[in-house]
Amino acid sequence: MRIYISADMEGVSGVVHGGQTAPGAREYDRACALMIGEVNAAIAGAYDGGATAVLVNDSHWNMRNLHLEALDSRAELLSGSPKPLSMVQGLDASFDAVFFVGYHARAGSFAASIDHTCTGSVYWAAVNGREMGELGLNALFAGLHGVPIALVSGDQQLIAEARDLLGEESVTVQVKEAIGRSAARCLPIAEARRRIQEGAKLALERRRTNTGGSWLLRPPSPATLTVAFMNTAQAELAALVPGSERIEARSVQFTHADYREVYRAWRAMYLLAGAA
Ligand SMILES: [Zn+2]
Repeated sequence: MRIYISADMEGVSGVVHGGQTAPGAREYDRACALMIGEVNAAIAGAYDGGATAVLVNDSHWNMRNLHLEALDSRAELLSGSPKPLSMVQGLDASFDAVFFVGYHARAGSFAASIDHTCTGSVYWAAVNGREMGELGLNALFAGLHGVPIALVSGDQQLIAEARDLLGEESVTVQVKEAIGRSAARCLPIAEARRRIQEGAKLALERRRTNTGGSWLLRPPSPATLTVAFMNTAQAELAALVPGSERIEARSVQFTHADYREVYRAWRAMYLLAGAA
């Protein structure tokens, strides 16, 4: 059983403020250590549950947060950026399940640790009218390849988002309760890691015995992506993506039958917006 782990930092227990998550920040090294602890717990749980191979995609910021020398030696690491497909680089039909570890709620969520959607320039994003953050947009990419989301970890708002999108069958692990965007009540480190390891094991046991379930999020076809940006200059540049349409002063839309093309447009849109 081949497992793909996309690992972010904002949803890790002990990480509560944007001042911890930027490379070079005073507390950044601490946050990296907390992150790799939860990733290693997920890898251990995956092998407990019958995994035969694990690929970890470092999916936070410059994507060089996880140090290979400290990673569970049974896993391979996708490190560095830019990667064309960012948080889902290398995810294809050869995998049996996906884990989203340390993920965070979408931009505009109530009481959610460092809520955002990929960059600070995205106000909200939706697919066929359904609002989505990184969790949803990446889950649809996995669904495109027929790979289910088996495990999600983060704060209570991210878990609620996962339940809403994926139903009750995927295993969710809450490691902290966000009090607001920059404060959270955190589980002790050992307990957060224990729950993730057990959750990963349980997820793969379910994966082996389950035949289907709503945790496989298949993308609609056609899929229409709508992105509202923080300001009009960002929308001006995002609308340079061929085939896109600026539907409001701050909003750009892109429709395609193939969600792979929609994801590529999404990547191009927010990268262009970042140049505004
Ligand atoms: Zn991140």
